[in-house]
Amino acid sequence: MVKATDKQVKLDKIRQQITNDKVCPDLSTAATQLVFGEGNPNAHIVFIGEAPGKHEDLQGRPFVGAAGKFLDELLTSIKMDRSDVYITNIVKYRPPNNRDPLPDEKAAFLPYLQAQLAVIQPELVVTLGRHSLNCFLPDLQISKVHGQPKRYKGNVYLPLFHPAAALYNGAMRQTLMEDFSSIPIVINKLHKTAKA
Ligand code: URA
Repeated sequence: MVKATDKQVKLDKIRQQITNDKVCPDLSTAATQLVFGEGNPNAHIVFIGEAPGKHEDLQGRPFVGAAGKFLDELLTSIKMDRSDVYITNIVKYRPPNNRDPLPDEKAAFLPYLQAQLAVIQPELVVTLGRHSLNCFLPDLQISKVHGQPKRYKGNVYLPLFHPAAALYNGAMRQTLMEDFSSIPIVINKLHKTAKA
């Protein structure tokens, strides 16, 4: 097994590369800092959100605002915490006024996200929200496929609703909690097929 520290060194290089390459200079100028992602570089599961919001921009860490607190609760509900997983976003700088990331911004950051995944090599990529889903599986609609694992080009994706969308919507919150509870089941199945 590759040591976590080796993976961390590689992740640090990708972070530096984003700065060196001056990705999305307008976003970078408007933002406080880069929000690269964090967690266990040896994680089996990587969560991918959309872009940092105000709190993430100020702290330099993904999912630390209200949506992040809900994500923490969801992780607790499956007996996990942040140290078990890796969490990042497609776009690594806060879009002004929390607007949706633009197609060219998502495209500009995609190679770095792919590089993060290539280092971590998770068994499962959990996409949070439609932007994240459509980065990998552009033809799928989140309302139709949420909670259903999808295998695509050798990777397994689990599309989930975004925790922010579920914050003030009781029905969606319930759906997200149910979909989240399938994560350990999906992981167990993947382990079984890997052993067979
Ligand atoms: N929403 C996201 O998509 N990402 C974050 O890091 C925070 C909120």
